[in-house]
Amino acid sequence: MKIAVPENVNRMIGQLEAAGYPAYAVGGCIRDSLMGITPHDWDICTAAVPEKVLEILGKHNVIESGLKHGTVTVKYSGELYEITTFRTDGEYLDNRRPESVTFVRSLKEDLKRRDFTVNAMAYNEAKGLCDYFGGKEDIRNKLIRCVGDPDKRFNEDALRILRALRFAARFGFEIEEQTAFSVRKNAHLLCNISAERIASELLQIIDGEYAEAVLLSYSDVLGIIIPEILSMVGLNQRNPHHIYDVWGHTVKVIVNAPHGKMMRLAALLHDIAKPECFFTDEKGTGHFHGHPEMGAEMAEAIMRRLKLDNKTIESVSILIRYHDLRPQANGKNVRRMISKIGCEAFENLMELKRADARGQNPDKLAEKLAYIHSLEEIYKEVTADGDEFNLKSLKINGNDLIQMGITEGKQIGKILNQLLSEVIDGTIENDREILLLKAKQLV
Ligand code: ATP
Ligand code: MG
Repeated sequence: MKIAVPENVNRMIGQLEAAGYPAYAVGGCIRDSLMGITPHDWDICTAAVPEKVLEILGKHNVIESGLKHGTVTVKYSGELYEITTFRTDGEYLDNRRPESVTFVRSLKEDLKRRDFTVNAMAYNEAKGLCDYFGGKEDIRNKLIRCVGDPDKRFNEDALRILRALRFAARFGFEIEEQTAFSVRKNAHLLCNISAERIASELLQIIDGEYAEAVLLSYSDVLGIIIPEILSMVGLNQRNPHHIYDVWGHTVKVIVNAPHGKMMRLAALLHDIAKPECFFTDEKGTGHFHGHPEMGAEMAEAIMRRLKLDNKTIESVSILIRYHDLRPQANGKNVRRMISKIGCEAFENLMELKRADARGQNPDKLAEKLAYIHSLEEIYKEVTADGDEFNLKSLKINGNDLIQMGITEGKQIGKILNQLLSEVIDGTIENDREILLLKAKQLV
């Protein structure tokens, strides 16, 4: 078994070994290499304690980040590498971090503390692959399996529960039976984990190439993080537009949405208020009046709980608020939407609508996609000159009005807004000469 270890990594391993300290590439980079994926970074583990690593690799190259925990970040030929001393974790009392770490001499001890078998392999050119826990076999069988007793491992650090879902969603692996059982059994421990760490894993889970199966199978675990999800699961929509329950639909929308934090979150949360808004009419058909507006507010509260950044919260809420809007496809309506939410949000909204349609009754899909396409075609036309239908892109401004002799701020604002709304309505063009003329009439 040969792994193509980058030259830098080989050189650092060589320097550490020459000084008498075993060293290996370890963890995600070995897993990825065995799977034929190019690793995004290479971590090294070694028997040398941090001070020795500093001494051997040259102090000037070291960023003293997690020295206490045995991690040294080294800048080597311009690239950053993490070098971690073999260690075992002391007792865990709070489901998230060990009380202490102890440096050890044995690679096997170090690999034993790692989360999953696929992440617990090490490699160097002299020793080849070191795989004490069957990681290679589990990659072959596409399984995420805890190293050791799953209950114990999830109790030590409950974040591993979400990491299991994350790797399953990224690689299309199943979570091995006992590990899966333990994931569910211990999911409640996630309440001891900080919102930031949870959010980071959640975002990666919903962004995974194989998220669909994981999201469907582990809605109960996600329900620990976002309880609002639980009432979506199994809620029959009783509506000809839909063939899936609210959660099944949501999952389809997630995986059909473009990758990335904002779009995937918007997909995850777009129908979050449907259970609250659900009612059936006299014919037994289900409706969800008001769910986009209420959903935008619920989503905002959820995203705040997860401590996401303001920009993400705002962008996602806007997408949710307008996701169900279906104006007649004409210039006036499209200009109005652009004026209200801006070009970037409009483009994202079309993507969300497309993903939303793909998660509905396939019989009506072609019609819905054609409609979205027609909105986009109109959008292209009306924005061809870079117009965003806001005061900033109006071809005259306050100064022009001042030059005309209008000095009162309030009146300037009123006239500009009047002109803008006429441009949006299409009664006048956004053309400087025309606007100046019109302004004079308005005075
Ligand atoms: P990625 O490609 O997402 O970076 P990774 O496997 O490198 O995946 P990291 O979070 O970078 O994941 O962690 C590096 C390694 O450290 C893992 O492969 C695993 O061996 C170990 N590890 C990380 N987090 C934990 C944890 N919470 N519990 C046990 N071991 C962990
Ligand atoms: Mg990594």
